[in-house]
Amino acid sequence: MTKRVAIIGAGPSGLAQLRAFQSARAKGAEIPELVCYEKQADWGGLWNYTWRTGLDENGEAVHCSMYRYLWSNGPKECLEFADYTFEEHFGKPIASYPPRAVLWDYIQGRVEKMGVRDYIRFNCPVRQVLYCEQSGKFTVTAHDHTSDTVSSEEFDHVVVASGHFSTPNVPQFEGFETFGGRILHAHDFRDALEFKGKDILLVGSSYSAEDIGSQCYKYGARSVTTSYRTRPMGFKWPENWEEKPLLVRADRDRVHFSDGTSKKADAIILCTGYLHHFPFLSEPLRLKTGNRLWPLGLYQGVVWEDNPKFFYLGMQDQWYTFNMFDAQAWYVRDVILGRIGVPEKADMRRSSGEWRMREEALETDEEMIVFQGDYVRSLIAETDYPSFDIDGVNRTFLEWEHHKHDDIMTFRDHSYRSLMTGKLSPPHHTPWLEAMDDSLEAYLAGPATVMSRAG
Ligand SMILES: Cc1cc2nc3c(=O)[nH]c(=O)nc-3n(C[C@H](O)[C@H](O)[C@H](O)COP(=O)(O)OP(=O)(O)OC[C@H]3O[C@@H](n4cnc5c(N)ncnc54)[C@H](O)[C@@H]3O)c2cc1C
Repeated sequence: MTKRVAIIGAGPSGLAQLRAFQSARAKGAEIPELVCYEKQADWGGLWNYTWRTGLDENGEAVHCSMYRYLWSNGPKECLEFADYTFEEHFGKPIASYPPRAVLWDYIQGRVEKMGVRDYIRFNCPVRQVLYCEQSGKFTVTAHDHTSDTVSSEEFDHVVVASGHFSTPNVPQFEGFETFGGRILHAHDFRDALEFKGKDILLVGSSYSAEDIGSQCYKYGARSVTTSYRTRPMGFKWPENWEEKPLLVRADRDRVHFSDGTSKKADAIILCTGYLHHFPFLSEPLRLKTGNRLWPLGLYQGVVWEDNPKFFYLGMQDQWYTFNMFDAQAWYVRDVILGRIGVPEKADMRRSSGEWRMREEALETDEEMIVFQGDYVRSLIAETDYPSFDIDGVNRTFLEWEHHKHDDIMTFRDHSYRSLMTGKLSPPHHTPWLEAMDDSLEAYLAGPATVMSRAG
């Protein structure tokens, strides 16, 4: 009988899984029956932007953590699919830091071409996944909001691709109850114009703080303050941007820091990270980890060691993204198709332990990038995913870091060479700081909507 595989989530990881199976089918393989459950009304995961915050139209927690005016925070050359280039999708080379809508279009282009949409059940959040030892099968229960029915089906394999940048980690600080301005988590940040002319505090020192702060600066915030727990981000900030040590308390319109200083603030944005959150999984299947490069319990970063018929995609902290999800999806596909065998549990644990030990010794960003590149390379070596120049991707990441440290407000104006086509990307028509329109049309057209920052 044909095997059945459930995929939870149609973001870049879940779509990579569908694409991996389609690719095997195109080469003549028999593939299992696939059902992809997607909570949202459309595909693309975090890249499927919504204005909504809190609950969606079905009463489900809004998945999207992206915001208007979000541009790629790394060079697109580092995430390019090896089997579907930007040039193939757009019919011409494009600049290196596309806005969200452009990347969403690119993600969709590949799966539209392969015709996998019919496998996806939209508006269908998975409520529960159970494993039965006797039957050796999983029971997946989902709520189909279109017909408003809850039903269960059996599967031989389950792939969890539900992402881990959606459930906010929200700390409490003294005085938040009586603070007079708005307090929100980065997950609920949507439009930087809301903070035009305001003094804002961002708590945190990672990508969200850096990028949301840059957005707010670009769209006219009066001042930006970022507060760090361990160390400052250390970029050369514009004049009205200051880094402070940890927030200790807020009163009605001021925020106080651990060095005894204080500032006026109109709003506080908590850029304090996300939780790996799987309320729909039964305890024996549930991954419990912080955001790191090598979560334990996952052989080759994807196979659930306690039950190797169960898989996770994209659960690592991410330097590499789309092409890493591809490498993982191709690997999982081949385990399911029986092309790759998994060893005994003790050997899986030993292998994961070795990667973890290596991860724990990493100190610099450069070492972390090389580590993740080695991981991607090790997966690709096992499958027919087109191999690509991982050292070149690592080098591009390093150039990007270098450009960020040169000037955090202009790093997006640089161009890099595609590691897939070998072509140097053209510069964008408008410097990022002046490009206020983040639509696909404006990006691909010409120097269209340019306004001054104060305008
Ligand atoms: C603010 C922000 C900016 C980012 N910027 C970049 C960037 O510039 N470049 C980059 O490469 N990466 C960026 N990322 C990283 C991002 O994680 C990846 O690009 C990518 O979206 C991860 O894909 P995924 O499929 O693993 O997860 P997601 O994109 O999160 O997709 C998961 C999918 O699973 C669905 N789902 C969740 N729970 C259920 C359920 N119970 N039942 C059914 N479906 C469910 C969701 O609706 C969603 O569609 C950014 C992340 C954030 C938060």
